[in-house]
Amino acid sequence: MNGAELTATLRTELEPRRQEMVDLLGELVSIESPSDDAPSLDRFARRLEALFGELGPLERIEPQDPARGAHLRLTVDGQASTQHAVALCHYDTVWSLGTLQRIPFSVDAEGVARGPGCFDMKGGIVVLYFALHALRTHGLRPARPLKVLFTSDEEVGSPTSRALIERTADGAAVAYVLESPLPGGTLKTARKGTGDFLVRITGRAAHAGVEPQKGISATGELAHQVLALHALNDYAVGTTVNVGVVHGGTRPNVVAAEAEAQVDIRVETRAEAARIEAAIRGLKPHLPGAALAIDGGLNRPPMERSAAMGALFEQARRNAAAMGVELREGSTGGGSDGNFTAAMGVPTLDGLGPEGEGAHAAHEHVDTESFPRRVALLAGLLIDP
Ligand SMILES: [Zn+2]
Repeated sequence: MNGAELTATLRTELEPRRQEMVDLLGELVSIESPSDDAPSLDRFARRLEALFGELGPLERIEPQDPARGAHLRLTVDGQASTQHAVALCHYDTVWSLGTLQRIPFSVDAEGVARGPGCFDMKGGIVVLYFALHALRTHGLRPARPLKVLFTSDEEVGSPTSRALIERTADGAAVAYVLESPLPGGTLKTARKGTGDFLVRITGRAAHAGVEPQKGISATGELAHQVLALHALNDYAVGTTVNVGVVHGGTRPNVVAAEAEAQVDIRVETRAEAARIEAAIRGLKPHLPGAALAIDGGLNRPPMERSAAMGALFEQARRNAAAMGVELREGSTGGGSDGNFTAAMGVPTLDGLGPEGEGAHAAHEHVDTESFPRRVALLAGLLIDP
């Protein structure tokens, strides 16, 4: 059986089992797991260990920072001991503890499921679980040895998991990312790189009424810097620079001695990343006597669509067509851990989670009727060489 045949077979087989997938999603959503709550993350990790432990050896990797959760790595045997594949899941969410009371897990008559983290990306964990079980039920193994990561800090930029992800993906033939897809189930074959900068400005305080000329206004300098930063935007090539947060000054009657700007940048290519980083680091004060200190940098490199990634998508498209689904690919300004694997040269297919919408937003939801076809799609990809 090849991937396309398995995909078509599984879709038919799994359609009547959708409720099992909904139930698992409900269970996972009901264990809250905000990135910054270690005890909650630990509860979730233990549930994952119980769920996936029977599918292969499962390692627990404690993070270097005790405020974060553990990462888990599952190894599933392949048909041949060739170059391995990786699958990436994160189990943290952007939703703070207690959100569940406000937005409890629910499924409406149309099969739309709601609840914190259902789409980003607990639904993806459900897809992976059922795909691995479906292979097992059919006496099949992934074509390649598969290393699955469940990480706990993706939503805060993967500070303690990045090295583990890169170590695990080193030498891999392919990376599957169980993140949420674009609308309609569209897979992600390109993602922008993301970065954060903090621009701190030091001026000099003075009485605003008595001798303002003796001061150096940090807020005045900030205004110049905000305009200079926003001038770096180049939407035509996908580069965005956003000063999202500013702080400065102490009182209206004091010339501000300090101010700062928090900057988010997004780029489609490494070349643009280099241009923007150099421009931000090269910012110069406008007012005599003002000083700038600039911290930060690129956090996730851009996921640039390579020829190998195009071929990987094509394989997914063919398998989906075999079950009567028209699969598309697209790009997004949001980053994921797939940015790391793609930047290492590992062909990466991202957005393999269930359909839905509203990651990080109040209307976050999963279209649970998509579960069987998303499980079938992943299972088919896993058995293709
Ligand atoms: Zn995510």
